[in-house]
Amino acid sequence: MSKQGTETRGFQSEVKQLLHLMIHSLYSNKEIFLRELISNASDAADKLRFKALENPELYAGDANLGVRISINKDAGTITIADNGIGMTRDEVIDNLGTIAKSGTKAFLQTMGSDQAKDSQLIGQFGVGFYSSFIVADKVTVKTRSAQVSADEAVMWESAGEGEYTISDISKSERGTEITLHLREEDKEFLDDWRIRSIISKYSDHIALPVEVQTQENDEVKWEKINKAQALWTRSKTEISDDEYKEFYKHISHDFADPLTWSHNRVEGKQEYTSLLYIPAKAPWDLWNRDHEHGLKLYVHRVFIMDEAQQFMPNYLRFVKGLIDSNDLPLNVSREILQDSKITQNLRNALTKRVLQMLNKLSKDQPEQYQQFWNEFGLVLKEGTGEDFTNRESIAKLLRFASTHTDSDAQTVSLDEYITRMQDGQDKIYYLTADSYIAAKNSPHLELLRKKGIEVLLLSDRIDEWMMSNLTEFDGKQFLSVSKADESLEKLADTEESEQQKETDKAFEAFISKAKTLLGERVKNVKLTHRLTTTPAMVTTDADEMTTQMAKLFAATGQKVPEVKYIFEINPEHALVKRIAAIEDEAQFNEWVELLFDQALFAERGTLTDPHTFIQRMNQLLMNN
Ligand code: ADP
Repeated sequence: MSKQGTETRGFQSEVKQLLHLMIHSLYSNKEIFLRELISNASDAADKLRFKALENPELYAGDANLGVRISINKDAGTITIADNGIGMTRDEVIDNLGTIAKSGTKAFLQTMGSDQAKDSQLIGQFGVGFYSSFIVADKVTVKTRSAQVSADEAVMWESAGEGEYTISDISKSERGTEITLHLREEDKEFLDDWRIRSIISKYSDHIALPVEVQTQENDEVKWEKINKAQALWTRSKTEISDDEYKEFYKHISHDFADPLTWSHNRVEGKQEYTSLLYIPAKAPWDLWNRDHEHGLKLYVHRVFIMDEAQQFMPNYLRFVKGLIDSNDLPLNVSREILQDSKITQNLRNALTKRVLQMLNKLSKDQPEQYQQFWNEFGLVLKEGTGEDFTNRESIAKLLRFASTHTDSDAQTVSLDEYITRMQDGQDKIYYLTADSYIAAKNSPHLELLRKKGIEVLLLSDRIDEWMMSNLTEFDGKQFLSVSKADESLEKLADTEESEQQKETDKAFEAFISKAKTLLGERVKNVKLTHRLTTTPAMVTTDADEMTTQMAKLFAATGQKVPEVKYIFEINPEHALVKRIAAIEDEAQFNEWVELLFDQALFAERGTLTDPHTFIQRMNQLLMNN
């Protein structure tokens, strides 16, 4: 490698932004800088171990990895030194001068100026190395990559403002040494006990030994502060909730506590340990295509890779955690993982584990479950189409708005719905619409409301697709109330049926005239007794695509076959009675056209020809 001397370089603009944000947002939790730096040292040790699997010479005779922390009170500095993988000059420039992750970059670009929101959000991605500048007004990094010789080390230095310098140095040992020149107001971190307590608080669970310097009769000694045993290898009974939470923060870069977790060791045909967490908050980029997700993969306790997506189905992409397998080979690659039977089995087992964990949460801590649903419900809904084997377990986890709660909050489970079913009701009724309000006020609900029958109200975009995947739950069929269905007509028919027969007769002429008028535009015209306050509505046949499904198709740019509706008329409605009495055919037809447009409008939320509709209505208003 050629020498390049000392260079001053500017930070990428996103780095400046991140630094500024961090200093202004994280001042109430300054001590986390130490956690972040120890975490990086631990990653650097993992990376060296992984590389050394193929090339043991990288250890250069020193395979005892660790991180050492020393305080220099006189100089006002604290130094964190590891003997991990280290960095080359190019790596330093890439890693400590830019933000490589496209997601984080995009996030910073969309950041507003709302400080309170920013400080919550900033915890959602790793602030990592740059957190040094929360407490330091100058940071010096000396690093030597395990792949280069002693005189090819580099020094990086910055005051965390616009720029940094980088120069060639010589460094006898491999690894990275970071010295923080503490700000005047942050000198509290020069206190030995303070540092020890922060280390125990944050770093007990990581496998890397963390040592602090002790001075005894001018002799330098190192004392190990943390347990230095990977948390998941310890027995569940020995691990406190706080330790689980801390470990979550270490692996997820999340500042908030997780909602719940599940830690399992499995022996037998397959041997593995898994530790899976459900976060409390959705990451801001959950819906981005390049959202990074997946588990950390270890094989025989050796770290292999981050974000191994192969162990979780896409609809559980919010799960964080790790899997440590004894069956996979140490040299496993993403490609091998993709096709491996072992991966497949692990994925099936872990999927079941997560669904069980969520089910348990819903039973034991309904409030927390509700929080989960509000954050991740939309993602979980994808599972109804993605995972046929677990469909029933997924359905159990779904939550809905309903006519029973009369609120747009999605809180009703299918089990709960079933306990409220009326005598003789054998179907689970639901309605999909563009919005909760449109669903709640839909004419399709009138009869069911009158009968006290609960209807699930669905208005998320994915819902129509989801319901096309769900046919039944607990032996009961789902039925959209916007479909013309016998079971619904039967509900209406139970009372007053003699009287209805008479009405039906009286309306025969009305129906046949309307049929002639509308012709091919409708599938059928008939009377309905499902309505109370609405004069007419349109429904679809059981085999016809519903309005919402047609919209879904249209939204994805697909050609939509025209939906042919059944036009249903409420003979009890005063307006309909008046129309029935009109003898002039042209006049009658105008009214029927108006009713039909109204019904389409209510169903679809739009009209193909609003102008004619308005003109016709105005004409009729003026004539009456
Ligand atoms: P993150 O750890 O989330 O990637 P950081 O800003 O903390 O982000 O670090 C950026 C990169 O710098 C790391 O991904 C790693 O490649 C490198 N790095 C940081 N600290 C060390 C270290 N102690 N040893 C080797 N590489 C490091």
